[in-house]
Amino acid sequence: MSEFDYDLFVIGGGSGGVRAARVAAGEAGAKVALAEEDRYGGTCVIRGCVPKKLMVFASEYRDMPTAARAYGWDIPDGTFSWDAFRAKLNAELDRLEGVYRKLLAGSGVETFDARATVKDAHTVVLSTGEEKTAKHILVATGGRPVRPDMPNAHLGMVSDDIFHLEKLPQRVLIIGGGYIACEFAGILHGLGCEVTQFYRGAQILRGFDEEARGLIADAMKDRGIDLHTGTTIVEMHCVGTPEADAMGEAPVENAQYGLKTDKADANGPVRVKATNGTIRDFDAVFFATGRRPNTDGLGLEALGIELGRNGAVEVDEYSQTKVPSIYAIGDVTDRVNLTPVAIREGMAFVNTVFHGNPTPVDHDLIPSAVFTQPELGTVGLTEEEAAEQEEIEVYATSFRPMQTAFADGSGRVMMKLIVSKANRTVLGCHIVAPGAGEMIQLAGIAVKMGATKEDFDRTVAVHPTMSEEIVTMRNPTRTV
Ligand code: NDP
Repeated sequence: MSEFDYDLFVIGGGSGGVRAARVAAGEAGAKVALAEEDRYGGTCVIRGCVPKKLMVFASEYRDMPTAARAYGWDIPDGTFSWDAFRAKLNAELDRLEGVYRKLLAGSGVETFDARATVKDAHTVVLSTGEEKTAKHILVATGGRPVRPDMPNAHLGMVSDDIFHLEKLPQRVLIIGGGYIACEFAGILHGLGCEVTQFYRGAQILRGFDEEARGLIADAMKDRGIDLHTGTTIVEMHCVGTPEADAMGEAPVENAQYGLKTDKADANGPVRVKATNGTIRDFDAVFFATGRRPNTDGLGLEALGIELGRNGAVEVDEYSQTKVPSIYAIGDVTDRVNLTPVAIREGMAFVNTVFHGNPTPVDHDLIPSAVFTQPELGTVGLTEEEAAEQEEIEVYATSFRPMQTAFADGSGRVMMKLIVSKANRTVLGCHIVAPGAGEMIQLAGIAVKMGATKEDFDRTVAVHPTMSEEIVTMRNPTRTV
């Protein structure tokens, strides 16, 4: 009989926590409990990747009638019903949450619909007042979106709010230039909103390959997204308040951007002053200004567990904290904040702790995609990072794909390989194209295996496709 109630107590029912709990209980035979204070499935399933991707699909139908007509179809433009889509989306999220609950129950994991905090190295306290002990505690509490520290920031929404909107805003301002800002600029534009985006830096998608960033920014502007770089918000007030009146009317600006100035929106429009001096009214302001690990009030610091910048739990390569019985995985550790990485970290934790097989988490060469329109798929080093490290050859091509060109569309795609001059290894692959997320998953295998440029060259092209260019680029575009 163990001295503890459980072998493992997991705090957080998101992708990482659920996987670790299931595998520890189902495969390793451990006695496992899991507490979740909100909905099972966490950020990815309930308020992130899954609903976001479904919204990307919804938004992409907007351009299809035009393209179809170019291919000979007699199809009229349609209208989008947020109500119809949202009802279906909510039903799908309910279904997925049910699947997560069933998977946990099926693996023998005991679940508590409660908030849990850590009392000591082996004890958690539930919001129901119960205390539970466990040999190991796994913190998998994820992260949450944050608003910037400025007066009236509460007037703006964050990504969690988007899925609960009663109606779509007609005029929306997005603040930020990262994954979430750029993805939602495309989504909301595609669903019929007038989208303005302010990014404080010189170019959106900081950290990604510069050429890819430029191509995506151009494509977003071409589609009608009013993107302003080097710009951010300095002041915001509800229209109709004395503070907003004191900012002055902005009819000229509103007219310039073709925006309507009626104030009939249910939530009330917000007047915004930007660093470029413009004053404009928006029906909604959306802060996509980053995320923060969920460690507030968890009780970790009192146990001597260090929290890093942003409040992230500090862990070693095995996801172990300074307190040996407490581990942490996923966004709460702010390492690589992606669902599949949290799942990997959960599996590695189970291998280490329950199978006696110490498994460090491999964070190298992780492929990822940004679901802009077109998408960006990326793995490995950017041209800029690789050039800092060694002499490289860059193979790049940009063209109008067959499907778009036939329909007289303007969208361009890009395929790019970064190759080590010394040993010919492909150090990075960057694809901007419809379906780039699907393509980079496969290219990522080759790059992870250490493929050389000659391995890519030896592979016969699949014709006619966009991605065949990745194996047919014969001469370097430049050597850096
Ligand atoms: P990011 O960190 O990617 O982007 C935050 C953006 O907000 C940056 O452009 C940043 O500017 C800007 N910003 C931060 N603070 C302020 C401020 N005070 N005023 C104005 N602008 C500000 O965060 P996201 O929220 O977009 O995404 C969080 C993480 O979630 C991502 O890093 C990713 O790991 C994950 N994610 C992954 C997705 C995918 O795989 N497709 C999709 C969505 C999220 P600056 O660049 O100057 O710092």
